[in-house]
Amino acid sequence: MDRLAQNYHALRGLAPQGTKFMGLVKADAYGHGAVPVAKKLEELGADYLGVACLAEAVELRQAGVTLPILILGGTPVECAQELVRHHITQACYDLDYAKALSAEAQKAGGTLTVHIQCDTGMTRLGFLCHEDTVDQAAREIAQAVELPGLYAEGIFTHFSDADGSEEYTMRQFDRFLDVIQKVQDLGHTFAIRHCANSAATLLYPSTYLDMIRPGIALYGHFPDAAMDPALCPLTPVLELKTRVVTVRSVPADTPVSYGRTNTLTRDSRLAVLPVGYGDGYCRGFSNQLTVRFPGGQAPVVGRVCMDICMVDVTDLPEVTTGSVATLYGEGQPVEAGAEIMGTISYELLCVLTKRIPRLYR
Ligand SMILES: *Cc1c(COP(=O)(O)O)cnc(C)c1O
Repeated sequence: MDRLAQNYHALRGLAPQGTKFMGLVKADAYGHGAVPVAKKLEELGADYLGVACLAEAVELRQAGVTLPILILGGTPVECAQELVRHHITQACYDLDYAKALSAEAQKAGGTLTVHIQCDTGMTRLGFLCHEDTVDQAAREIAQAVELPGLYAEGIFTHFSDADGSEEYTMRQFDRFLDVIQKVQDLGHTFAIRHCANSAATLLYPSTYLDMIRPGIALYGHFPDAAMDPALCPLTPVLELKTRVVTVRSVPADTPVSYGRTNTLTRDSRLAVLPVGYGDGYCRGFSNQLTVRFPGGQAPVVGRVCMDICMVDVTDLPEVTTGSVATLYGEGQPVEAGAEIMGTISYELLCVLTKRIPRLYR
């Protein structure tokens, strides 16, 4: 939890005083546990929380989280009254949706706070704001914000390539500023304009506007493993550890685990770990990744099973039943696993399943 706090302060410190901070806690806070993370962010003074869907927002409300929460994805219209009831802010991504939300908010007898979502080049959700559609987008947004039962507190867009192309990111940003200006010309301003995800927060201060919106960086990882760590002092928040169930001595020429993908070339000591792909420890790590013991690295031997995997500790004589193995953590970065899987740290964190006890220190 202190690492989360450090990352929070480091990211906040990049932005001028007065810039709001939305902490992204979608996907169970990138696998870290949404409720404890949200409560910590609340205590630290974050201004907003971001989630993907209604169930994630309601989970936080039921746990007593009172911070404003923005749902970045679409909530089915038939559930929209719950948004009003729980004081949850909804992303509004087109005029038809705005009209439906307006009708439901009025039925619920309340006001629904919305943030207008602009598609400036991500091509996912939002009013389409390309150069040739921005005028229409502005007119539709102006119509949406006037609807009864809605309060359009914010407007936002999402960068598709902030860790890749500066040129494309700035094109998206210009489109965003352009549509905001055009809506303003039609008589509406927004209290909170926001677009900076982790990559933009780390690389492009010009995009901060009224609020930054980092996710992965809060958890201590760079959006791209190749980014310069000097950009901001971030520390991975999560460590994944387990204890050795038993250590077995196995003779040379013995095949290990399903499919016999690995046959021992020497008399070996194998540590059995109670972790597998059922925990989110990927099957693709079979014969590829290592785990770390205090005395050194031990390679995963044979296939990772659903609940168990084996590592070779022949060269680590001190490893015994009960020894602690670090699967992700210092000296064993999540990024190494991500590279093997051809993916990003985000995915490996998100796939850690409920079976793994989360301990908060
Ligand atoms: C997930 C998400 C973010 C955070 O992205 P990171 O790369 O984790 O910082 C920000 N905004 C939106 C709309 C998102 O979906």
